[in-house]
Amino acid sequence: MIDTHAHIDDPQYADQLDAFIRDQQQAGVECIIVPGVNDDSIASVDAVCRQFPGYLLPAAGLHPEEVREDYRLRLDRIRRALMQPAVTPYIAVGEIGLDYHFDTTYRAEQQDAFRIQLQWAAELDLPVIIHSRDATEDTLRIVREQMVNAQMVHDQMVHGTCPNGTCLGVFHCFSGSYETARQILDLGFCLGIGGVITFKNCRLRDQLVPADGRPAIPLDRLVLETDAPYMAPVPFRGRRNESRWMTYVVDTLAAAYNLPAQTIIDVTSRNARTLFRL
Ligand SMILES: [Zn+2]
Repeated sequence: MIDTHAHIDDPQYADQLDAFIRDQQQAGVECIIVPGVNDDSIASVDAVCRQFPGYLLPAAGLHPEEVREDYRLRLDRIRRALMQPAVTPYIAVGEIGLDYHFDTTYRAEQQDAFRIQLQWAAELDLPVIIHSRDATEDTLRIVREQMVNAQMVHDQMVHGTCPNGTCLGVFHCFSGSYETARQILDLGFCLGIGGVITFKNCRLRDQLVPADGRPAIPLDRLVLETDAPYMAPVPFRGRRNESRWMTYVVDTLAAAYNLPAQTIIDVTSRNARTLFRL
């Protein structure tokens, strides 16, 4: 299993990080991607990734909920880090995106920051980790615009495939509709699936594998994630999340797709390796 999204730099893990990482490794977690959320997290992400090089893999970006008046200054710092990484090279730009859930004060600034960071990813030839909450339409529109700007649009939009067989990024913590999933796939992106899918009354399973005869969302466009410390799966809901608990997500996907759990692990790991070029 590969965890494509876990905030292991969160202070909740600082206490016994060695033991925590050992537990994940013993449970079959191959590696963990640690996204940044702002300019301050450059240092904390670097610090944990330096302790476990090749196992904890860093990304850097300005999360939409971190966008305020001073976002340009913060972006400058993050750009400098991406250009001159302190530890291992960053494997992605993220997390970036739009979030209108709690606050839309900085809607325009969020969109500007998102555009700028998508542009960096194109320049640096890195995949992106996208956070989108209550902002699907704007997120998809901006991604589309940027792809046009980057002249990448033809293959993805005309043929629905990714350049060089790789994807451009992931919509992390996906919990949207079948139609939204299709639009994301058409743009050449993957969906990050985490603990949400195990929640009771969660409609995501039916969106990925509709019961009404529509074709299932292809498994080769899904990657596993935790969004740890958040989003712990049932039966650990509410607790500090761990990458090894992705087995509960795997089991839910295995039941939905009617495939062995090992197939879910193999395919999603392969997808993650392709997407993040591991
Ligand atoms: Zn996150």
